[in-house]
Amino acid sequence: AEAHVKAVEAARVLNAFTVETPELALKAAEVADAALAKGEAKPLSGIPLGIKDLFATEGVQSAAASNILKGFKPPYESTVSGKLLADGAGMLGKLNMDEFAMGSSNETSAFGTVINPWRGKGNESLVPGGSSGGSSAAVAARLVAGATGTDTGGSIRQPAAFTGISGIKPTYGRCSRWGIVAFASSLDQAGPMARDVRDCAILLKSMCGFDPKDSTSLDLPVPDFEAALTGDMKGKRVGIPKEYTVDGIPTEIEALWKKGADMLRDAGAEIVDISLPHTKYALPTYYIIAPAEASSNLARYDGVRFGLRETPENGSLIDMYEATRSAGFGSEVQRRILIGTYVLSAGYYDAYYLKAQKVRALIQRDFMQAFERCDVILAPTAPSAAFGIGANVDDPIAMYLNDVFCVPASLAGLPAMSVPGGLSDDGLPLGLQIIGRPLDEEGVLNAGYAIE
Ligand code: GLN
Repeated sequence: AEAHVKAVEAARVLNAFTVETPELALKAAEVADAALAKGEAKPLSGIPLGIKDLFATEGVQSAAASNILKGFKPPYESTVSGKLLADGAGMLGKLNMDEFAMGSSNETSAFGTVINPWRGKGNESLVPGGSSGGSSAAVAARLVAGATGTDTGGSIRQPAAFTGISGIKPTYGRCSRWGIVAFASSLDQAGPMARDVRDCAILLKSMCGFDPKDSTSLDLPVPDFEAALTGDMKGKRVGIPKEYTVDGIPTEIEALWKKGADMLRDAGAEIVDISLPHTKYALPTYYIIAPAEASSNLARYDGVRFGLRETPENGSLIDMYEATRSAGFGSEVQRRILIGTYVLSAGYYDAYYLKAQKVRALIQRDFMQAFERCDVILAPTAPSAAFGIGANVDDPIAMYLNDVFCVPASLAGLPAMSVPGGLSDDGLPLGLQIIGRPLDEEGVLNAGYAIE
């Protein structure tokens, strides 16, 4: 833990943390030593982790990287972070992220941009991906042994790919959402980000499990994910979805994808072509449903109950709401609220939101039909390697395109992970994505293990 505390201090230039809590990590290490001496070690005794700022952590600022929540210290702990701590882990601090988890580059944070420990060909700074960009940077730079992330439309997988680490989004409902700041409640899932697949399996086991405080939490036993890691793919069929060959996909991404298929074939799998016909509607569907749910979830930040309050002189209550929300929310969050309230408004609800829900069902059905022909699906995680800081900030559509391979599995609630697959022509990490059947995290992790 001490070495990690020093590493965190030495790497402040990355801006991976919003709050550092070395005292908590050191305390957990002390408790772990005492437990170890008595032969009572827990699964994660003394392991120093970082927790994404989206998770409520008792007594430690939990701001979702937003000005509107700066200074908010929850009197409670999220279920998932609480489970990790109960298993003996120590918290090194809160990890930076895109504001309210909206973004793919960690450039929308009110705490500033996070820098990817990997650098571009000309030594330029790159984004660490998003929204879990502090998590990916901190794991990649070995500041933490592992981190929590959340994934609504790719925010665990894409940053993992951009930094050369592993991360898994489990089946929707595996991890409790209680105490995690809500972005799009029907999509949000927590998951681990770590140096390798085995660490992901170990952390996931601690994070999962039924929680009566989340009505969408699944009441199912938690498998021993680590035991599933054999690397043997014999008898397994791996599907290659033809619709993921999107226009303009760089040759290096296609080559990576092929290499991943070869590795799984070498591990004993049979490679089969599959079709997910509604793939092209996934991105527009996601960018209707996610902002719609976000606009509703973010209505609670009104200056009354949490964090920031702006009170214009002689202003009314409405003036206070407006001033608080204008000052408290960054521009990407405001854009999402506007889109969300628009697609939910009377007269447009049927045309946008209801239609998107129907398309979502078709996307789910595509996957269920594909899984009659294969056990897992292999795809790239992102259409490119990490890009330069500032490269996409003025073009929200270009930024949203980054999520093209990640959002379908999110809309379908499926487990999906990213593992490092190789390097780009510029020597940057590229990720391969494995998507599994509902509740088959074991199959997903094992395929990742076979590639790693
Ligand atoms: N990049 C996507 C978005 O901006 C996904 C974010 C996420 O998964 N939290 O919505």
